[in-house]
This record gives sequence, structure tokens and C-alpha cells, in this order.
Amino acid sequence: MPKLPRLILATRNAKKTEEIRHILGHLLEITDVNGIPGLPEIEETGTTFLENARLKAFGISNCTDGWVLADDSGLEVDALDGRPGVWSSSFGGEEGNHALNNERLIQELSGKEDRGARFLCTLVLVKDSEEKGIFRGTVEGRIAETASGSSGFGYDPLFIPEGYDISLAELGTEIKSQLSHRAKAVREFAKAAEEGDLLKF
Ligand code: IMP
Repeated sequence: MPKLPRLILATRNAKKTEEIRHILGHLLEITDVNGIPGLPEIEETGTTFLENARLKAFGISNCTDGWVLADDSGLEVDALDGRPGVWSSSFGGEEGNHALNNERLIQELSGKEDRGARFLCTLVLVKDSEEKGIFRGTVEGRIAETASGSSGFGYDPLFIPEGYDISLAELGTEIKSQLSHRAKAVREFAKAAEEGDLLKF
């Protein structure tokens, strides 16, 4: 069997890598920057998902050969005028602290009737410092009053997708990989890769 092309994910979030590998693993050999020593930390100074995804994709592509895919994603909450948005990972005051983020979300929505929210994901694909594609996905839902479930990461214990009455963290990996913002964006990417000449060397 021919060797699968390698795709480097410009992320240190092993959960994102797992989710993307689950969908793309048959098509590509997926690795992330944790598996490649010496790659830089990329500062996410953008104000949109696209800007941050580009910063990560180009920041890593400038230091490696081949295909690089960056994911920037977050949660938009209606009652908070779209916050935390691009600042989702530091909402609670400490970068990447999901427990604090969830606590702050529960507090800010306390007593609010409007619980509407959505996850958004933007993927940017770059090869040898040249942009090759942008793919997006969204999942609508609502924010629960209390956290429940242990699957996934981030706000999953508080996010109830449209059409369900339990959280993404309770629904588990299989369901998340069918309906999540990331899964939808990744499938758009897979479609382009399979149908077009994307990823052909
Ligand atoms: P990024 O790594 O800068 O893209 O930050 C993404 C942040 O958005 C994460 O740290 C989470 O807080 C949130 N987030 C993005 N995708 C998900 C998801 O699939 N489930 C739960 N939270 C997510």
C-alpha cells in the first residue's frame, strides 16, 4: 500500500488532533507540532478565527516542508453578544484552563433566558508557505445551566447541540465527530482533498 501523505496540524491541543485524525486518518498520516521538536510557539494575536488560523498555519509552514493545517475555533454566545469568540481559550483568565472558562460561562449566563450559542471552526491549509484552502464549520446549540459529561474538551460539558438534550461531553466522540463545527470543516477539507488535486504531490 502506498505511503499516506503527511499532514502536520499546527496545534498542541491533543484533543483537536484526535478529533481530526478520527475523520482524516484513512486519507493522511496526521501528526501535530507536539511530535516535531523545535517548532515555534505561535502567538494568536488575530481578532478573527481566520486571522489566527493563518498565523498558526504560516508560522509552522515557514519552519517545515509539506502540508500544514491550522484550526482556530471557539464559542459564540448570543446573550454575551458573541463572546468569548476568538478569546474562548482564555475566557476564565488563564489560557487553556477549561474549568475556569466553564465556570465563567456559567456565571455570566446565570439568570439569563437566552442560552443560544454556536461553535465555529476555521481551518487554513498551507503548503510550503502558500495558502491552499480555507474550510469552515459551525454547530448551533445552547448552553446548559450546569456542566455534565467527560468526553471531548473545552466547553463540551456545557454545550447542548441543536436536536439533543444532553451535552457534547455526554454524547461522546462518535456523535461529536458527526456533528461538530470541527468535523464539518474537516469534512469540507476531506472532500476537496478527495475530489480535487489537493494533496497530490
Ligand atoms: P484555539 O486553540 O485558539 O482555537 O482555542 C479554541 C478554544 O475554543 C478552546 O480552548 C475551547 O475553549 C474552545 N473550543 C474550540 N473547539 C471546541 C470544542 O470542540 N469543544 C469545546 N470547546 C472548544
